[in-house]
Amino acid sequence: MARERLYLFDTTLRDGAQTNGVDFTLADKLAIAAMLDDIGIDYVEGGYPGANPVDTELFSKPHKLRTTFTAFGMTRRPGRSTSNDPGLAALLEAKADAICFVAKSWDYHVRVALETTEEENLASIRDSVKAAKAAGREVLLDCEHFFDGYKANPKYALACAKAAYDAGARWVVLCDTNGGTLPHEVEAVVDEVVKTIPGDHVGIHAHNDTEQAVANSLAAVRAGARQIQGTLNGLGERCGNANLVSLIPTLKLKGEFADRFEIGVDDAKLKALAHVSHTLDEMLNRAPNRHAPYVGESAFATKAGIHASAILKEPETYEHVKPETVGNRRKVLVSDQAGKANLVAELERIGLTVNRDDPRLTRLLETVKEREAIGYAYEAADASFELLARRVLGTVPAYFSVEKFDVSVEHRINALGEPVVVSMAVVKLKVGEESLISAAEGIGPVNALDVALRKDLGKYQKYIDGLRLTDYRVRILNTGTEAVTRVLIESENGNGERWSTIGVSPNIIDASFQALMDSIVYKLVKSGAPA
Ligand SMILES: [Zn+2]
Repeated sequence: MARERLYLFDTTLRDGAQTNGVDFTLADKLAIAAMLDDIGIDYVEGGYPGANPVDTELFSKPHKLRTTFTAFGMTRRPGRSTSNDPGLAALLEAKADAICFVAKSWDYHVRVALETTEEENLASIRDSVKAAKAAGREVLLDCEHFFDGYKANPKYALACAKAAYDAGARWVVLCDTNGGTLPHEVEAVVDEVVKTIPGDHVGIHAHNDTEQAVANSLAAVRAGARQIQGTLNGLGERCGNANLVSLIPTLKLKGEFADRFEIGVDDAKLKALAHVSHTLDEMLNRAPNRHAPYVGESAFATKAGIHASAILKEPETYEHVKPETVGNRRKVLVSDQAGKANLVAELERIGLTVNRDDPRLTRLLETVKEREAIGYAYEAADASFELLARRVLGTVPAYFSVEKFDVSVEHRINALGEPVVVSMAVVKLKVGEESLISAAEGIGPVNALDVALRKDLGKYQKYIDGLRLTDYRVRILNTGTEAVTRVLIESENGNGERWSTIGVSPNIIDASFQALMDSIVYKLVKSGAPA
């Protein structure tokens, strides 16, 4: 049976840009649009031309994307003609394939917020849709507060949707603007709407205020809607929008939807989803949510020993989908609950085969437990765990040694008479017979130490080119009598591969040093650097 086409509309760059603390530059927007285009999103809403300089600039040049690049804006203002409305003019001038208008569909808002008549609001919808069609654009209408409006006055809410459809809008999008509608309500309302407007012209725009934006989107599709609007990682104001990163795998991997519908994201691009999600977080300078469904680091992580042996035998028993399908991976956690089965499973995953009776296995397990007791957390530092395991098993070469390092922080008055704080690090390394000394300044002492360490590794330098730190987190732990510092560092190389390392010490510089060293040595091991 031929599957029906379901369309995905991304509004990360418009509604997602409303997120607290998110401020996209033009370069960010172009990069995110290209990423969305690459994975096969049908519509990318770039922003609101005329509302701010970045969005105006974004729509000033034609794009080269395959996606339907969409500009967002208001319908003509009440009492004005379409030819005499500067906001509408900016929209019509925008270099966009489609225009998504937002209009009120709740009679109460028409009266109170818009201060106009119900009929004038309908006329504004009709005129704006027609003007955009006449300008050669595909047209969408976001019906703001549709579900609340429908509850208050179903006739009028429907009249708004129908006005847009009759005027030639390709899509009429039902918005749960304040995010309070529940899935069964969405399903019931959409069920009614599709009796008036064909479902393949109806979209859903859900907000996550009851944590059901994804469920609401799916409920709308069940009732007949054929476009879903959402954002990457559920970005959006308040509690966010429907999360496309959760919706896409559900639509592709769950039979009820996968058997009936086809979306623009193919299986190969589905595998890039975890990477896309993490890349966005990185651009926003936030650590990815470990517990994000499908793509989070913990999404396929299991802790207890009894599960680990079962997972090895039959992975399907503890996983609702295969982690590789979304670009994630299975993870068996090593923690103080870990038994040998956990450990063997984790070692096999990183390519180390060890016999269960091997005495080194017992030693490794004891070492992990001892170190976790003093503050190490290997669940959060896969690369440090792998190095520890390889060291106990005797497969890590002594590439280089640090004979000495010195870090200083100086507060002084500069030539302009301003107070400045300068950090400087000197590192003395031994690589084979060669002694190397590097010095560097940094933003802070850890940065200076990092730069100095990676400045000159002699014959190993070429193996660490491209290595960079992407996240640095510090926690103070109270283990018994004294406080210690735990440092977690995330590193990345040029091709997007990431790894995490850890250091623990009463001294923050020492803890950072351990984590930095692990990161470099891990990279050398992974690059197959010769001993
Ligand atoms: Zn919204």
